Amino acid sequence: MPAALAPKTSSPRPSVQHAPQAVVRPKNADAKLQAAAKRERAEADRERIYDSFNSKHLWRRISWPVLIWITAMHVGAVAAFFFITWQAVAVAVGLHWLTLSIGICLGYHRFLSHKSMKLRTPAEFFVLLCGVLSGEGSPLTWAATHRLHHHRSDQPGDPHSPHTDHDDGWWAHIYWLFLDRSSRDTQLLYEKYTPELKDRPMLQFFEKTYGLWMVLPGVVLYAVGGMPMLLWGLCARMTYAYHSTWFVNSATHLWGYRNYETRDESKNLWWVAVLSYGEGWHNNHHAHPSNARAGHKWYELDPTFWVIKALKATGIAYDVKDKVPAPAKA
Ligand SMILES: [Zn+2]
Ligand SMILES: [Zn+2]
Repeated sequence: MPAALAPKTSSPRPSVQHAPQAVVRPKNADAKLQAAAKRERAEADRERIYDSFNSKHLWRRISWPVLIWITAMHVGAVAAFFFITWQAVAVAVGLHWLTLSIGICLGYHRFLSHKSMKLRTPAEFFVLLCGVLSGEGSPLTWAATHRLHHHRSDQPGDPHSPHTDHDDGWWAHIYWLFLDRSSRDTQLLYEKYTPELKDRPMLQFFEKTYGLWMVLPGVVLYAVGGMPMLLWGLCARMTYAYHSTWFVNSATHLWGYRNYETRDESKNLWWVAVLSYGEGWHNNHHAHPSNARAGHKWYELDPTFWVIKALKATGIAYDVKDKVPAPAKA
């Protein structure tokens, strides 16, 4: 047979040839396309999350409720010095410890964000409630944002780094809190960074009732002890706790010493550790984030870990990851 005739016999009509090709496409082609599209979507979501914390958006997207609340707390903290009573100061000190050390350091940070221990359910509710009363955001918001900080530490996407392009110490300390983020951005953040937590009923409960917990303590404090109790127990207590936490974000990524070579700029800073019940040993923490113990040397005092030890001894906390890591740099 002449070679020129061969194609005619093998494929007599183009239309017949096309139809089977569409059906016979490799079986996994669709799956591959879908997987590629999914990867693209995930990458776009990640970029959207990182961008939602970029300081370049600040002046166009200010969160007025946060700005007004934080300003009000600071004004109240100054006014408190004109309303001093020892009872009010004592209540402020007690609530400061309860909300910052137990609520934030133990509850939000070491327990919820890093799973460095497990807690019996009533204790879990109590420590998370203490965290809510600190006014530092809902448990989910705090944990998801903090996990993002560890994931992108001192790189673009870190919510509060003093080292990325647009950012400085003040951005890391306070300005980043004033950046408004859409509910879609928040949902993406939860889906990516707290997928195992976001639907838990206890966390959903705090998510839905967060505003109530911001108002209720002020009403109770005023009813119990008038202006001195309100200004000290709420405003001054919250303002000092805010700055203690914020110094962990700003100062401990700027100043101090390092026990470990981590890929970020985290440092150990004694005076932040004093202010924040042990959280200032931040280089230790970045090197071993899931360890319940932030102080790794004998002189690195960690008052929050003392409470964890007591909870472990009584069985309220269990599966505590508290082995002193080794080796640390000399
Ligand atoms: Zn850090
Ligand atoms: Zn952490």
